[in-house]
Amino acid sequence: MLEIRGLTHTYPDGTAAVRDVDLHVDKGTLVSIVGPSGCGKSTLLRCVAGLQPATEGEVLLDGHPITGVPDDLAVVFQDYSRSLYPWLTVRDNVALPLRRRGLDRPSRRARAAEALDAVGLAAALTRHPWQLSGGMQQRVSIARALAFHPRLLLMDEPFGSVDAQTREDLEDLVLTIRAATDMTILLVTHDIDESVYVADRVVILGGTPGTVRADLPIALPSP
Ligand code: ADP
Ligand code: ADP
Repeated sequence: MLEIRGLTHTYPDGTAAVRDVDLHVDKGTLVSIVGPSGCGKSTLLRCVAGLQPATEGEVLLDGHPITGVPDDLAVVFQDYSRSLYPWLTVRDNVALPLRRRGLDRPSRRARAAEALDAVGLAAALTRHPWQLSGGMQQRVSIARALAFHPRLLLMDEPFGSVDAQTREDLEDLVLTIRAATDMTILLVTHDIDESVYVADRVVILGGTPGTVRADLPIALPSP
């Protein structure tokens, strides 16, 4: 369970980007954070990720504070082209960060292969990022996050830089991943259609910037 309590972030220039936000997210649910540009989505996500300190409030994962980027959380950003190492193979892009977990080489490689398989890139292990389309590069970024086996996955406009068809494919990928794990996922997007399509719950920021304007469950059709 992710608990965001009284989270406030004010930038040094006085901009109150996030104001006293409370959100509780059950384990295994996918919550989408949506709203117009400037409403505080990215700031909220960065505070949850520990990439920015909260001015006030706290973020708890299973009852413990999140400080810094700990082992139990992984982040996928919009700009995949800058988040992959061009000189490493696809497999090493996914495997290398696992050294921080103290995993040995066979374990890293096994996790990388498993994660790349989950995103449909099992055949691209030995290729380099520049040999892949933008959508495939973003799949590599997602695989890298999955390889950590995080309890919490944060995604900030992950499909903001790809064409419409690729975007739909990646949204379907998120649904597949979501169904296969019990990760809690926070997905920031400015696209309400995407929100409703992938999320269990949609949190709309705005009205007063940095505040929760609406918090809506999405009813899933029964199978
Ligand atoms: P969103 O992701 O919804 O577009 P942001 O979290 O990026 O919103 O920004 C929220 C508000 O904080 C905006 O008014 C934005 O201009 C401001 N802001 C974002 N980053 C900074 C910064 N580094 N310094 C000052 N203000 C910022
Ligand atoms: P493997 O042993 O499976 O090749 P490693 O994680 O040891 O995987 O390294 C993968 C590649 O990344 C190697 O080419 C290595 O030289 C390179 N590498 C290792 N550490 C770093 C680092 N901190 N920054 C950039 N590249 C690195």
